[in-house]
Amino acid sequence: MRKMEALWAYQEAEVAKNNVETEIRSTPARQQLAKLHKQLKSQQAVIAKLSEDIEAYESQLNKLTDQVGKLEERLQVESSELVTIKQDEESTAEEMTELKGDIERLNREISQGVREAKTLLTEIEKATDDYQTTVRAAGKAKKEYDLLRVKCEEEKEARAGELEQHDKKLAMLAKSVDPVLLERYNKVKQHHAVPIAKIVNSKCGGCNMSLPMVMLKKIATTDGIVECENCGRILYSGDE
Ligand SMILES: [Zn+2]
Repeated sequence: MRKMEALWAYQEAEVAKNNVETEIRSTPARQQLAKLHKQLKSQQAVIAKLSEDIEAYESQLNKLTDQVGKLEERLQVESSELVTIKQDEESTAEEMTELKGDIERLNREISQGVREAKTLLTEIEKATDDYQTTVRAAGKAKKEYDLLRVKCEEEKEARAGELEQHDKKLAMLAKSVDPVLLERYNKVKQHHAVPIAKIVNSKCGGCNMSLPMVMLKKIATTDGIVECENCGRILYSGDE
């Protein structure tokens, strides 16, 4: 069982190192940093969307202002024509009615245009308010984020020595592990974060499947790798 013992010791050292890494990754500061990162991203998306909206509203407003301007010019032309027609004795009642109808229609179109322009202006004001509020909030969040990042770096820095010790220990243990076993271990590790499972009450400690007697015997007599037929983890009898 020497080879398997060495491999087990290697895994334990790896688990210990992973635990430290997990601790570093999950401190309150790191969690808050991740939250802020998400928040900043969504704020940036909102800012981009609002600025797009404002631009679109403004271009609509410009178009509308042009249209209303043209309608007003025509109204002026037709109004002065009405004055002329009224003074002209040869003009007919039909001509007068038609012109008045045109003027009424133009007035309606202008009012409609002005109403639409007012609606657009309200939208622009609202979007601009939202934009400024979001920009301020994002600025505040960014400051907080930068401070937290420094704190997280310090936290990581503070445990760098500890991690280095783990790496040294792992490198040392790796030398005592049979290279063939280590290679197999790393292959299984692609599917299972913790590749070796201890046998507990004749069951695979990884997937909990009961192991047949033949297999238990094989494990007890082999100093090498026997994989669980169910989950593929490497089985280790340990102290059992
Ligand atoms: Zn299993």
